[in-house]
Amino acid sequence: MCLLAEQNAFGIKPDYAVFADTKWEPQSVYDNIKWLQSQVSFPIITTSNGRSLRQDVVDGVNAQGAPWMTLPVYLSDTNGGSDGINWRQCTKNYKLDPIRRTIQELLGVRPRQNLSSETHVEMWLGITEDEALRVKPSRNWWISNRYPLIDDLPLTREQCQEWFAEHYPGRNLTRSACVGCPFRSSPSWLDVKRSEPALYSEVVEIDALLRSEEHNSRRMFRKRAYLHHRRIPLEDALRLDEIELQENNPFINECEGHCGL
Ligand code: SF4
Repeated sequence: MCLLAEQNAFGIKPDYAVFADTKWEPQSVYDNIKWLQSQVSFPIITTSNGRSLRQDVVDGVNAQGAPWMTLPVYLSDTNGGSDGINWRQCTKNYKLDPIRRTIQELLGVRPRQNLSSETHVEMWLGITEDEALRVKPSRNWWISNRYPLIDDLPLTREQCQEWFAEHYPGRNLTRSACVGCPFRSSPSWLDVKRSEPALYSEVVEIDALLRSEEHNSRRMFRKRAYLHHRRIPLEDALRLDEIELQENNPFINECEGHCGL
């Protein structure tokens, strides 16, 4: 979307682009952001809540440092109770809130200062036509959401990738998502395993840590927490994914993309 905007595909260019860094993205995403900054004429600002989501998951705390789990981990009850999924708070705490704060700073508004009724920000979101289910109204009265890749120049994700490959041949385009995001699809997990072996080994350890006696999630949930939707250890899950992928099993779908900011 930024590259198309730079080419005036949407009539105007944005004043700023904001990247919310959870401090748990693959290196290729950070490399892409750096490259993107050199390609567009508007500033691309990196913001964060000052914490590392990876470290907070390891420590079993939330964005305030209190014992909690903000990731939407999959829960399994070994005592015959129902399985479940944890309430996702990471997107709000590590992405949406820092982005909103950054926009307020750009407007010159102090924390907790009331906004004038004249304030209006148009926020562009790069959701593609095939992901229209993710379109939502803004949570803030002073921000209206705009979806240029749906309303102005409708493109699917595949068409975006084709456009990118044509204009930037040989360049890899990694999708932004936390390394340990439980919403990763099976192909996406396998991609992390193949392209980021060190990060993958670390996330396998984090997945096991969630079920260890000393981790907060054991006390919080009284169920076993897993990063993979199969609700088994990550290594075992990916072994099954690899087999199913080879057999072209339709169970393996693309990520639902709950986050993607
Ligand atoms: S990418 Fe996944 S883990 Fe990261 S903030 Fe979004 S939902 Fe949470």
